[in-house]
Amino acid sequence: MTYAITSASNDCSVGAGWFHDLCGPDVRNWDDLFDTDHARSGASLCQNRGQPPMNHHWTPLVIAPPEWVDDVVRWDADYSTDEAGMRLAIELALQNVQRRTGGPFGAAIVEQGSGRLVSVGVNSVVRLNNSVLHAEMMAIMLAQQRVGSYTLHESERDHVLVTSCDPCAMCLGGALWSGVRRVVTGADRADASALSFDEGPVFPESYTYLESRGVRVTRGVLRSEAAAVLELYRKQGGPIYNA
Ligand SMILES: [Zn+2]
Repeated sequence: MTYAITSASNDCSVGAGWFHDLCGPDVRNWDDLFDTDHARSGASLCQNRGQPPMNHHWTPLVIAPPEWVDDVVRWDADYSTDEAGMRLAIELALQNVQRRTGGPFGAAIVEQGSGRLVSVGVNSVVRLNNSVLHAEMMAIMLAQQRVGSYTLHESERDHVLVTSCDPCAMCLGGALWSGVRRVVTGADRADASALSFDEGPVFPESYTYLESRGVRVTRGVLRSEAAAVLELYRKQGGPIYNA
């Protein structure tokens, strides 16, 4: 059984891909999806539930920053201070706005102590038509790809997520599961809300919970500089994609 989601073509009628397992001719309706065989196999709900078997053509899901990132990021620089990491996150956010490649948010994953830069992310929701591609999520995914693990927690060094704005509910949860041990933020939630960006269900207790799980949070680093990028985006008339 293959769980890859990047198969170029999986033919449900004859193929052996994972989609075949979910869409096979024995799946006819909602009840079938909860049939014990499927429940035991751990099969999730099929997007084509109730439909007859058909051909499915898959294309790879490519998640990458815009090409200009290579011209902006100095990978060999020392990002061991919160301010250094934040300046990078803000610069990424600024470039993303000026080059019109996404929303006014940038992020980076840095090794605690050594200050080694592991990954960067910029908001790519509109550019890649993907609602989860906030800067923090991109940085987390690319960092885990680079270290070759689903968690950054088991690395020799702790990792820090530096983000130009307080994370939304998704990214705060993503930070928890990512294995980073610190989160450093720039602009305040209120700064983003002023542009009508909705951060979702994030509460003071959310931060308390992260702290209780061993994820320290430092907020408001270079806040005014980070908030200035949000204001620039507003002046440019950038789209508010989650309002
Ligand atoms: Zn987010």
